[in-house]
Amino acid sequence: MRYYHLQGATSAKSRWEVRVDRAWNLPGSICRTCWAEVAHISLDFPSVDLFDWPHAHEYVEARQEPWEEYARLRDQLRPLLPSGVVVGPGSGFGPMNGWVKGSPPPVALLDGWTLLATEHGLEEMSMDGLRGIHAVRTRLRSANSVPTLHEVELLPAGEFAEPGRPVPTKPPCGVCGNVVTTLAPLEWRLDAASIPEVDAFRFQHWTTCVIVSERFLDTVRGLGCEGEFEPRLVAGPAEERARTPA
Ligand SMILES: [Zn+2]
Repeated sequence: MRYYHLQGATSAKSRWEVRVDRAWNLPGSICRTCWAEVAHISLDFPSVDLFDWPHAHEYVEARQEPWEEYARLRDQLRPLLPSGVVVGPGSGFGPMNGWVKGSPPPVALLDGWTLLATEHGLEEMSMDGLRGIHAVRTRLRSANSVPTLHEVELLPAGEFAEPGRPVPTKPPCGVCGNVVTTLAPLEWRLDAASIPEVDAFRFQHWTTCVIVSERFLDTVRGLGCEGEFEPRLVAGPAEERARTPA
């Protein structure tokens, strides 16, 4: 199976407009030991709704905090997270708020890293048997003529393929765990063995990268919105061969 980094097509004509916001976020962090500053803009979990949670007010203001305070807020949130979910500084929670106008396509990539789908888009994904597609209805305001949008929750996974996998240049920070590595190659690829059994996920090392399978792209083609995307191959037969012992 081939896998692709899903990127928005520069040639796609925009027939819709959207402004989005999220009610709750973990703060960005700064470590006073290694001075790493981290704030993800894409590691969001729409299914984790903090409504009615007594600590929710601590997650409203976008800000940067020292690592220790970030870690306290992260740990406090942990019981609300689905098992195995790894969050990071800047992670957003809960359904999207805001507004949408125009005619969004059945499947859309917002800002390059948020995967949206209309009900029709989701139905086709389900009929095609796509795996691991868990979508949350947004709370975007719109006219009645605009289809309701859902956000596909993408969990982080995947590893760089060898050769070219970045390697640490020194031991991880003893406080925040930050690891400085060599650079990844420009034409990076995914290790086939690291690909989860789902048809869409987020690359764990670069969380703005949405990875989809060729089956996902087949569904997009069936929906007639392939012109919205410029997918780049990141895993295919070469990785499959590397995985199979000679
Ligand atoms: Zn550190």
